[in-house]
Amino acid sequence: MHLRKRCAVTGGAGFLGSHLCERLLKEQQDVLCIDNLYTGSKRNIVDLLNNPYFELMRHDITYPLYVEVDEIYNLACPASPIHYQNDPVQTTKVNVHGSINMLGLAKRLKIKIMQASTSEVYGNPFEHPQKETYWGNVNPIGPRSCYDEGKRCAETLFFDYYRQHALDIKVARIFNTYGPRMHPNDGRVVSNFIVQALTAQPITIYGDGKQTRSFCYVDDLIEGFIRLMNSPKGFTGPVNLGNPSEFTILELADMVIEMTGSKSPLIRKPLPQDDPVKRKPDISLAQEKLGWQPKVPLQQGLKNTIDYFDDLLRTNGSEAVSPTNARSVA
Ligand code: NAD
Ligand code: UDP
Ligand code: UDP
Repeated sequence: MHLRKRCAVTGGAGFLGSHLCERLLKEQQDVLCIDNLYTGSKRNIVDLLNNPYFELMRHDITYPLYVEVDEIYNLACPASPIHYQNDPVQTTKVNVHGSINMLGLAKRLKIKIMQASTSEVYGNPFEHPQKETYWGNVNPIGPRSCYDEGKRCAETLFFDYYRQHALDIKVARIFNTYGPRMHPNDGRVVSNFIVQALTAQPITIYGDGKQTRSFCYVDDLIEGFIRLMNSPKGFTGPVNLGNPSEFTILELADMVIEMTGSKSPLIRKPLPQDDPVKRKPDISLAQEKLGWQPKVPLQQGLKNTIDYFDDLLRTNGSEAVSPTNARSVA
């Protein structure tokens, strides 16, 4: 009998994973962080390394893993387009082979497992806002497919283990989330704009900037994860977790410029292939089943994130955080 629940967090050294590990430790749980440090970093978890209830295991989940834990949060997978397109075969592998291994682990131990799925399963959606019942509009052979189809196949595997082996599964469909510890040069829009504004570089608008996204602050999302993991056994999801406040990319750029007092100009870059035109979650299922909804407005979340990058720039210099625009030429 263990006094503390032993939680495995795959991808625990990444942006979301590090916040989840921190939160689980605050809740007096024992955390096994499983990460191959592909996009994650020790810097994200440096404050946790001295905690005796925290353990970092360097491991690639596409290989089998035999450990003893009580719950698994499966987050391992590069999340930004630049990183997941860098080695697309590995991206599919982590979603397919990695999920099979983690599901096999959960099956052997008869424990709960939560999957970090994504709004990308909806692709470039015809339904707006997106409900969990919508099947999506996804290109199976494009540059984003390794991620989108990989995540869709992972959902399939989770539901097959649920039906075939009565596994206790939870599937979260995460919409664009931002906050401190985002990878400074992973090319995602919030980190790009903030770093560009703070370093007086032009703000890169892909396409006409009228495409929309709905941005969720990381603390809100982690609360959603915890509630989902603790939800009654019959509730599997998939459940959307995201902030329904929708903004155009131009609106986001204006906010960042205003909040940083930056003089950076806006410049146009080509819209990447298969870039969704709009995205906004319908969160009524999460509200009903988990009593969850985001609390942090974009303005507040951006302030915390700007403070984080400002601090990072002061300690590491601008080279360490130069934004990446590789995606615009992908
Ligand atoms: P991230 O890249 O910061 O974190 C991913 C972590 O997984 C990294 O620490 C990386 O080193 C690790 N990893 C990658 N391949 C691995 C492997 N084979 N074995 C072990 N570890 C491996 O990304 P994030 O934003 O923290 O995303 C975490 C999860 O949430 C991902 O599954 C992502 O698809 C999902 N998600 C994130 C968002 C978002 O807006 N951040 C949106 C939708 C879904
Ligand atoms: N697996 C693992 N850890 C475990 C149990 C299984 O990594 O504790 C892996 C195992 O290598 C297998 C995969 O999970 O390839 C799927 O396991 P499952 O029992 O579902 O399938 P089977 O072993 O019957 O193919
Ligand atoms: N984007 C942009 N400039 C950037 C980075 C991204 O205009 O420097 C746009 C991108 O084309 C997309 C949106 O911002 O329409 C969100 O991009 P991100 O990569 O953050 O997330 P995703 O496309 O996966 O939702």
